[in-house]
Amino acid sequence: MLHIEGLNASYRGLKALQGVSLDVAKGEIVAVVGANGAGKTTLLKSIAGLVATEGRIEFDGTDLRALKAHMISRAGVGLVPEGRRLFPRLSVEDNLRLGAYAVEGPERFKPLELVFSLFPRLAERLKQRAETLSGGEQQMLAIGRALMTGPRLLMLDEPSQGIMPKLVDDIFAAIQRIRDLGLTVLLVEQRLAEALEIADRAYVLQTGRIVMSGKAADIAGDADVRRAYLGL
Ligand code: ATP
Repeated sequence: MLHIEGLNASYRGLKALQGVSLDVAKGEIVAVVGANGAGKTTLLKSIAGLVATEGRIEFDGTDLRALKAHMISRAGVGLVPEGRRLFPRLSVEDNLRLGAYAVEGPERFKPLELVFSLFPRLAERLKQRAETLSGGEQQMLAIGRALMTGPRLLMLDEPSQGIMPKLVDDIFAAIQRIRDLGLTVLLVEQRLAEALEIADRAYVLQTGRIVMSGKAADIAGDADVRRAYLGL
């Protein structure tokens, strides 16, 4: 579904991604793990069309690098950004509806049913302002908002960040259910154990380069990976 080859991205001379190649097949959960500053956010922003890049990024055969960010979203790539980036003063309902802003036609708000079945708490808090939600609930809302765009590929940037440990499990369980519903997931995480537990395959990113890839279970069990690349 997603094919990336020789991807480079830089910020004023600082090379954030160097020759990154990565594939995601339909129905998979693929995790990209790496320490702080490895380039994980830059990778997702590159796919979403939010940073300038060199190389190839194909989504179902479409060259995403030729499209602007809003067209990439319309093509079926959803992003749950790092730090959630909600509209804090707007209600839960309005945050969700804004997710469907660029969707046209009668089916526009149809994903609401899916969002409420995944996260019943959101349905109970529809009129509440986003800023009054707990960290975990805000993450649910950020995922819900991305689902409102009707994505086939959902990309999540550190969904466990700033969340109580008890709710982290709920978020990861929800990501699994999203996959079971037929979506494909590209997950970027610093929390190695949890991410590798739900992923099918994983890539290890270190200072902008992929240094290892394989089945998530194999990477999870590799002591050298944990020590050398992830600083654990
Ligand atoms: P984190 O887990 O801290 O978010 P990350 O793996 O997501 O890290 P990136 O945020 O992609 O890493 O950053 C990769 C590199 O690019 C880092 O060295 C970072 O300092 C640098 N960088 C990121 N964004 C910018 C920017 N807007 N301007 C300049 N440098 C940046």
